[in-house]
Amino acid sequence: MLKVCKFGGTSMADAASIRKVKDIILGEESRKYVVVSAPGKRNKEDIKITDTLYKCYNDLVEKGDFSERFSLIRERFLGIAADLGLKSDFKAILDVTEKEIAEKKSADFTASRGEYLSARIMAEFLGFEFVDAEDMIRFDSQGRLNEEYTDDKVKTRLKHVDKAVIPGFYGRDSEGKVKTFSRGGSDITGSVIARGVKADLYENWTDVSGFLICDPRIVPEAETIRQITYKELRELSYMGASVLHAEAIFPVMKVKIPINIRNTFKPEDKGTMIVPNEQYKSLSGEIITGIAGKKNFTVIFIEKSMMNSEVGFIRRVLSVIEHHGLCIEHVPSGIDTLSIVLESEQLKNGVLSDIVNEIRENVSPDYVHVIENISLIATVGHGMARRTGTAATLFSALAKAGINIAMIDQGSSELNIIIGVANSDYEKCIKAIYDAFVIANKK
Ligand code: ADP
Ligand code: ASP
Ligand code: MG
Repeated sequence: MLKVCKFGGTSMADAASIRKVKDIILGEESRKYVVVSAPGKRNKEDIKITDTLYKCYNDLVEKGDFSERFSLIRERFLGIAADLGLKSDFKAILDVTEKEIAEKKSADFTASRGEYLSARIMAEFLGFEFVDAEDMIRFDSQGRLNEEYTDDKVKTRLKHVDKAVIPGFYGRDSEGKVKTFSRGGSDITGSVIARGVKADLYENWTDVSGFLICDPRIVPEAETIRQITYKELRELSYMGASVLHAEAIFPVMKVKIPINIRNTFKPEDKGTMIVPNEQYKSLSGEIITGIAGKKNFTVIFIEKSMMNSEVGFIRRVLSVIEHHGLCIEHVPSGIDTLSIVLESEQLKNGVLSDIVNEIRENVSPDYVHVIENISLIATVGHGMARRTGTAATLFSALAKAGINIAMIDQGSSELNIIIGVANSDYEKCIKAIYDAFVIANKK
């Protein structure tokens, strides 16, 4: 048995948590490769190291000096190292780091130092080798992970290393400069390492006991999903369930390595197993697996009688969006209607009205209507396909809660029903869906 373990920001936040991490790792001989995040928040008011580092970079650019803010980074790491009784001269290591940040003047390099220092500390505390992610993880010239190259590098670099700690979140770009993934990207590092070393399991240790049916900040009593397929997870994490980075499943999905989400602070909990379809064993009669959502979308609703018999209608509508270089979230359609759902952020500074005017010119619709401030909520579960009446249960629950549905997209995967509701109904809507499927299912 070989496991890769990734520990998130809360697990690395202070010496007490890091001691728990050590107990977990040493608790099983199979936990050989460890990926760590930068120290996160110790309490609600605290600031993540990564956020402070981005601010250091801003100070450097705006004021030419970041030493005052860097003292927060020093304090935090020196405090942890002293508390853990580490022998290395972390003061000297931090001096070098500060100098390099000033020289390189790169936001990515600056942010990456949180993970770098965190891994240096963890490696020494465990007595494992420190292996830098820079030497293994490579991005291509478009900024995407170069999977093949990285996989090769991980294999060769770790071949003769029995136990290692690797910093998450960063690698090198095609020119050899340090580059980070998007926020939360240490989850991807863990996945890449698991694939490279052919792990049997990728354990992702965080501060909740697995993937919960919905965001615990909205439904505090939300239960843990015990088992979920890669595809369901992809739908949920893409739609905002932030436990695991939305791209973290791809490297392991190809080689079918399961992911186990675990809680550092409750290691006895089994957490969530994320598995390929064929390994999924239905545990009980759950209809839905999870609920997730995102705020701030805009729906452009277009109506034209007989649009389906007009050759090239949809293409001409979509080409307007394409010309503006925007990404489309969903395109639900009916016989005479077509809705386009876009992130509102992309439509600022007159872009929305330009698009609406161009659609009018391009396809002469009978009617165009814009609905703003929409939240998208996905109800996900492969149990839905086997059951009749899932959509009816969903819609009647929302009607009962007095929630108006602005858009519906059932998709073709039968894994997912996505609805659009007013931003102000977002939390209420998630609660209503949870009650209708999870609470009612138990009665
Ligand atoms: P880490 O720092 O360990 O990577 P994250 O903060 O990235 O942890 O992810 C864990 C957090 O995700 C939880 O503390 C919780 O607040 C949030 N979260 C959002 N949606 C869900 C969900 N469906 N299930 C569990 N946690 C969720
Ligand atoms: N430290 C980085 C962040 O806060 C990466 C991570 O934690 O995964 O986004
Ligand atoms: Mg995370």
